[in-house]
Amino acid sequence: MSGLEGGCACGAVRYRLTSGPMFVNCCHCSDCQRQAGSAFVINALIETDRIEILSGEVVPTAMPTDSGRPHLVYRCPDCGTTIWSDYGDRKVLAFLRATTLDDRAALAPDVHIFTRSKLPWVRLPPDVPAVEVYYDMDKLWPAESLARRKALGV
Ligand SMILES: [Zn+2]
Ligand SMILES: [Zn+2]
Repeated sequence: MSGLEGGCACGAVRYRLTSGPMFVNCCHCSDCQRQAGSAFVINALIETDRIEILSGEVVPTAMPTDSGRPHLVYRCPDCGTTIWSDYGDRKVLAFLRATTLDDRAALAPDVHIFTRSKLPWVRLPPDVPAVEVYYDMDKLWPAESLARRKALGV
């Protein structure tokens, strides 16, 4: 799965993933819906240093949050495409927008989260876990991914 490439809408930002992600969340929360202007957002959780920027730059914008914890969205400064989110300003963990990959179907969701605010006409696949809010990562993530996350210290 390594070698996946993606970029922004205008083409200034190009990136390559140096490994597959730890886990893929499909988020149906109202913040994601508003910020994307869409039904949901597919976030691939990956170490930030495994996103190799090939061209351009990403610039953080602070998003308002209910929790008061920082949520930084990294975008192409030219076209505004969001490439990833950093929840909690942790620096090391990126929530990469999986549909910015050239192969937008490459990373399928491992879980659907915040289904309490899922749009009523979106139907979820029966074979993928779905939770009203969030989930216990220890229970859903594969051991290898848990080890990677532990190594990040977040
Ligand atoms: Zn761009
Ligand atoms: Zn969300």
